[in-house]
Amino acid sequence: MLNFDLSERQQQIKQQARKFALNRVLPVAAYYDERDETPVEILKEAHQAGVSTGMIPEAYGGQGHGLVDGCLVVEEIAAACPGIATSLFDNSLGMEPLILCDNEAAKKKYLSKFVNAFNLISFATSEPTMGSDVSGIRCQATEDGDDYILNGTKYWVTNGGIADYFTIFATVDPEKKHEGICAFVVEKQWDGVEVGRAIPKLGQRNSNTAGVHFNNVRVPKENMLAAPGDGFVLAMRTFSHTRPSIGAFAVGAARSAMEFAMDYAKKRRAFGSRLSNFQAIQFKIAEMYQKIETSRLLVWKAAWDADNEIDPTISASISKMYATESATQVANEALQILGGYGYTRFYPIEKLLRDMRVYPIYEGTSEIQRMIIGGHVLTNYEPVMPALEDLPLHHEHHPDELGVEGRPETNAWRCRLCGFVHYGEAPPEQCPYCFFPDSAFKQVAGSQPE
Ligand SMILES: Cc1cc2nc3c(=O)[nH]c(=O)nc-3n(C[C@H](O)[C@H](O)[C@H](O)COP(=O)(O)OP(=O)(O)OC[C@H]3O[C@@H](n4cnc5c(N)ncnc54)[C@H](O)[C@@H]3O)c2cc1C
Repeated sequence: MLNFDLSERQQQIKQQARKFALNRVLPVAAYYDERDETPVEILKEAHQAGVSTGMIPEAYGGQGHGLVDGCLVVEEIAAACPGIATSLFDNSLGMEPLILCDNEAAKKKYLSKFVNAFNLISFATSEPTMGSDVSGIRCQATEDGDDYILNGTKYWVTNGGIADYFTIFATVDPEKKHEGICAFVVEKQWDGVEVGRAIPKLGQRNSNTAGVHFNNVRVPKENMLAAPGDGFVLAMRTFSHTRPSIGAFAVGAARSAMEFAMDYAKKRRAFGSRLSNFQAIQFKIAEMYQKIETSRLLVWKAAWDADNEIDPTISASISKMYATESATQVANEALQILGGYGYTRFYPIEKLLRDMRVYPIYEGTSEIQRMIIGGHVLTNYEPVMPALEDLPLHHEHHPDELGVEGRPETNAWRCRLCGFVHYGEAPPEQCPYCFFPDSAFKQVAGSQPE
């Protein structure tokens, strides 16, 4: 049975996150954005308030929230500041490979560190030379007794400059592509770990992004989350559980953009009337609202799949692609409604637009989501309709006129190229429409030739 009601517990989770978003995140969002600085104190407060730790499984001391619960929280925080939300929920991305892997000892050792104290864990597949093509990882892991030695550079690491731990995807041999990829938890304090400068960005300026370099870093085998050959699948499984949250980021940020535009449209006057009285503006608001509502439904569906142990890969890709692309359209139209004021830094729309522009890029670009969805539809999707060449013959015969077993008495031959149906004992020598020879015809009705 379908049910879109939130439980009482979920309502509470949402309200708690909303309160934190409005009281603690919104007031500081622009301040830290201006300074390209991550508000670590706010991240700490979120940890203390339980806003950012909900999804750690109960078995490891967490609250055991599902992904639907998580998306409710994410939407609220992103509505206040998409940048701070990225840094706040990066722990979920960093922890997901730990949660999904089979290394029980590593789960026990590390997951508790995020429940009991404020610690940050970053996730890194991307490198200076690759992002989308995860099989192209170059960061090398070389076996050495009970350890692996890591050498290489990870780039674009969210919270990279401030994290205490890293989930690192590396390869035992770049030539092996998917077959060589493995994953480890690496501690920042270990010898040979070097953190780069914060990367200057268009938006999400209050979310730290940095490169991390590994120079002969010794990683004990007990920290391995995926053995060589299993790392690629672990990375993809991680994304299918975290992409709905990116969709939820987009829903929150778009929702704020729409709310600010509504407020402005109800107050601003032009041509003797309020903007909100103009149908052109009402239509913009209608499209914004439609996109936000649709996005939220897709996000909830993907999160629900994950919570119910249904493979969320496709629903996650659909929700991320749709919600993130819709959000930038919503914010763009919101800015349009504010006119010149929308373009200033006095009002929040320009920041929302800058911040959300990364959504269709990180955790798999929109192009990659289309490849995943297109590949699924063309290989796994089971159509309901018959193939074109097997469609019923409806052009020349009303179904009531058809003979036994729903077929006309006469033989019928369908040209596989253009679809023309020829009635007669044998197919024509060539198709009168597309001129293909009789071999292009398939018998679709009547008695089989002797
Ligand atoms: C603010 C920010 C934070 C980030 N945080 C993290 C993080 O915490 N951890 C992490 O690992 N990464 C992180 N990333 C990296 C992010 O995941 C990558 O930027 C993203 O996956 C795209 O990779 P790329 O930038 O190397 O682009 P490329 O892969 O080089 O792609 C460039 C363009 O080509 C397109 N393209 C590539 N291949 C194809 C194809 N086969 N068909 C059609 N088009 C294609 C892409 O869609 C894109 O438009 C972050 C990035 C940013 C900007």
